[in-house]
Amino acid sequence: MLLSRFPRVHLAHRNTPLELLPRLTKHMGGPNIYVKRDDCTGLASGGNKTRKLEFLMADALQRGADTVITQGAVQSNHARQTAAAAAKLGLKCELLFENRIVDPDSDYLESGNVFLDHLFNANIRDYPGATDMNAAMETVAAEVRKSGGRPYVIPGGGSNPVGALGYVDCALEIITQANEMQLKLDHVVHATGSAGTQAGLVVGLQAMSSNIPVLGIGVNAPRSVQEERVFLLAQETAAFIGAEGVVDREDVVANCDYIGEGYGIPTQAMREALLLLARLEGLLFDPVYSGKGLAGMLDLIGKGHFSKDDNIVFIHTGGSVGLFGYYKQLL
Ligand SMILES: *Cc1c(COP(=O)(O)O)cnc(C)c1O
Repeated sequence: MLLSRFPRVHLAHRNTPLELLPRLTKHMGGPNIYVKRDDCTGLASGGNKTRKLEFLMADALQRGADTVITQGAVQSNHARQTAAAAAKLGLKCELLFENRIVDPDSDYLESGNVFLDHLFNANIRDYPGATDMNAAMETVAAEVRKSGGRPYVIPGGGSNPVGALGYVDCALEIITQANEMQLKLDHVVHATGSAGTQAGLVVGLQAMSSNIPVLGIGVNAPRSVQEERVFLLAQETAAFIGAEGVVDREDVVANCDYIGEGYGIPTQAMREALLLLARLEGLLFDPVYSGKGLAGMLDLIGKGHFSKDDNIVFIHTGGSVGLFGYYKQLL
């Protein structure tokens, strides 16, 4: 698996640390809980989209693009990291926001990620909930072309085979770190949304015959939909790197019991998990993804889903900037 065959720009601080959370581990009474600090990827306060953008932005540059277009929720971490990457590379950035929240307050609409998007000089366009955002991106791309620009469309969350390479690479990084630390890893857990993170991880871990199961904690779709989405993208990604067939359907496991009322709507378990990690480990998680992922992992630990002497890694996918868009709902 030679990822250096694919064009890549340097955006991320790597390797991100793989650290034990001693106080959380003690608090839960085992398993040993490690965190992979992908909240520390460095670009514009970090997060998982930065790894994907190293490959996506390189592809955009290779195709001669001068404008990148992407879409997401208003408090999209992906949009914020894309806007920062575009600024760093001298590209224009069009962000299309779908308002998925009923009655959002001004913090949600203006603070957190949105505030930073403005600092990076992204052009923001707002759309009502349930808009066909892929069609909307094509309309904007046509507009850019008409005015003489060269658009490059990045799917929501950067989740296509090019973006997923970022997490194939992260899988290699985790294995290398575990080997160096003499750490026998038993589980990888993380929040899953647009599927690129889990698809890339599963492909990377399977291609290396690591036998480490990945558990995605879903934040928007029901289990069958989420698993199918991840599996499809994993198959495409495997084919893209010349490793067809390396992922079986049963390698893709998502638990979607921790979504609550819906995408981006806080849950009590998320609030508690977020406060617990802040107060035990001085770590910040986010209300939409990593907080719900963490809530799922902690609940599953409580239910005995893992053995007490397992070593499990929670991939911290970032997003704490979003806290400022939600702060009244969190304290
Ligand atoms: C996008 C995102 C995820 C989910 O990653 P996907 O590749 O979209 O599944 C998890 N956590 C945070 C903080 C994110 O921004």
